[in-house]
Amino acid sequence: MNIAIISRNSKLYSTRRMVEEAVAGGHEVRVIDPLRCYMTIASQRPTIHYKGEELTGFDAIIPRIGASITFYGTAVVRQFEMMGVYSINESVAISRSRDKLRSLQLLARKGIGLPVTGFAHSTNFTKDLITLVGGAPLVIKLLEGTQGIGVVLTETDKAAESVIEAFRGLKENILVQEFIKEAGGADIRCFVIGDKVVASMKRQAGEGEFRSNLHRGGNATLARLTPQERLTAVRAAKIMGLNVAGVDLLRSNHGPVVMEVNSSPGLEGIEKSTEKNVAGMIIDFIERQAKPGKTKTRGKG
Ligand code: ADP
Ligand code: MG
Repeated sequence: MNIAIISRNSKLYSTRRMVEEAVAGGHEVRVIDPLRCYMTIASQRPTIHYKGEELTGFDAIIPRIGASITFYGTAVVRQFEMMGVYSINESVAISRSRDKLRSLQLLARKGIGLPVTGFAHSTNFTKDLITLVGGAPLVIKLLEGTQGIGVVLTETDKAAESVIEAFRGLKENILVQEFIKEAGGADIRCFVIGDKVVASMKRQAGEGEFRSNLHRGGNATLARLTPQERLTAVRAAKIMGLNVAGVDLLRSNHGPVVMEVNSSPGLEGIEKSTEKNVAGMIIDFIERQAKPGKTKTRGKG
């Protein structure tokens, strides 16, 4: 097959591993920087051009769209879909998963366990909002934050109020969430491909930190999942419409709760802590699934 990995940086561990495994599987593979793609939009024959060349002949793409380029990146993915190229994660699913509020609403609708979460536009009713979600301690998050940046733990209602007002004063959209203390600064990353959790790791925050992000100094070890955790992760990915997803769970005393569903989950932490060939499993999935024109949405939405 002829596979394109849509990624800004071919040197990243995740990108390199997928290239390696695609080559090992006997495929042609190229890394395409989405920000260097330009496109023509016409009803007859949509095209994508790249550094002066027209891109044709791809059977499948693997989008690895960073959060900071979601808008243009998903437009490039959508263009491939319009051309009938199979995308392992579709553009609509990627956009959906990037909006934390929208994701939580979708998951809630299908009965997935979630931390009690509130959000508001106006700061006029902040005290009431804090009461509604159960009061401090609370976690306050920027809606479009990643890697733990923009996630704050507030120990008192007063602190929560100040942080909410400060963020809203900066015109940032936020959500306010019950703090799952019993998680003990750990979360579980479930790497989902298709309808299976193929690898999972427990990430533990460093001393004095509640955020378990590896970028914030968290450390990863193998996690053994309960059947309920496995089912929750697979269902969450399915609800988001993602074939490849990193579903992050917290172990709360009311069962597993989903914190977020990531559409470009990193491979380094998960492959190193589990010693599994996750990149290879992504390529295998494409081999089984990719058919011309199989993208369900064909770029709709
Ligand atoms: P980001 O998208 O920046 O990674 P997350 O929502 O994943 O933001 O939060 C970062 C980390 O903070 C999580 O990995 C988790 O360890 C911790 N955390 C987030 N929300 C909660 C919560 N409601 N209760 C306890 N810990 C939380
Ligand atoms: Mg996270």
